[in-house]
Amino acid sequence: MDQRDGWIWYDGAMVPWGDAKVHVLTHGLHYASSVFEGERAYGGEIFKLREHTDRLIFSADTLDFELPYSADEIDEACRQVLAKNSLVDAYVRPVAWRGSEELSVPARNNKVHLAIAAWVWPSYFSPEEKLKGIRLEWSKWRRPSPETIPCKAKAAGLYMICTLSKHAAMDNGFADALMLDYRGYVAEATGANVFFVKGKEITTPKPDCFLDGITRRTLIDLAKRNGYTVTERHMKPEELGQFDECFLTGTAAEVTPVSLIGDVAFTPGEACRTLMDAYSVEVQPKKAAAE
Ligand code: PMP
Repeated sequence: MDQRDGWIWYDGAMVPWGDAKVHVLTHGLHYASSVFEGERAYGGEIFKLREHTDRLIFSADTLDFELPYSADEIDEACRQVLAKNSLVDAYVRPVAWRGSEELSVPARNNKVHLAIAAWVWPSYFSPEEKLKGIRLEWSKWRRPSPETIPCKAKAAGLYMICTLSKHAAMDNGFADALMLDYRGYVAEATGANVFFVKGKEITTPKPDCFLDGITRRTLIDLAKRNGYTVTERHMKPEELGQFDECFLTGTAAEVTPVSLIGDVAFTPGEACRTLMDAYSVEVQPKKAAAE
């Protein structure tokens, strides 16, 4: 990763990719005082950029630090990173963290940094390939309660169990892991939300202890526009067998059909196809109204 060409926006300046470094005594590295975003640009425009920027600011605020830039400035910096790297379809990664001035748990005097990188992260599968679906393993880790950790922030500390779950799933030949929450309800995958389909009815876990993804909200809207009903509720793992289709949503994952969760099989079909297509249209930049 650090060998790439290109530019990273770092505390207000464009820095060559390989020079965008942090000190080893960075608070964010030791105590996870770090928040980030994952965004995608399509046709040169970042989809729902302001929502991502607002979530970044919210995440930082939740971790008790203030970004030294306004939402407008962050949006503009994201656009500059794309332009400087001549990227049109790309993944954009803003990250903010507390610096290295003092290294102990309290860190109010540590400088808050912001960096923004972008790189090409294509969807590796054709729609036909994607429709075969990916296989998920149940994770042994559970999403923690809102009283245990600020679970609505997109914060580095919440990803420790995601990495562990994903590693275990991959070691066992699965593409990803699905996590339950602290009560035993179905929660989310390691970097994506999950939906289940039966006929024209879609059900998705209620996001009361995990990220209510921007793609998730987009999909709920698209599903309704395409004639599906959408119910957000607590879901038990035992009830998954009654559903025909399943898919994941996320900025990186987009809409990814699922063929297996543990020992429950799904057959990606009409709903997955319709919503993948609808999403791929939705993310394209809106052209100015024809004159
Ligand atoms: N859950 C987790 C744990 C994630 O990392 C992501 C990706 N940001 C999502 C859900 C989906 O969020 P979004 O649609 O906003 O990318």
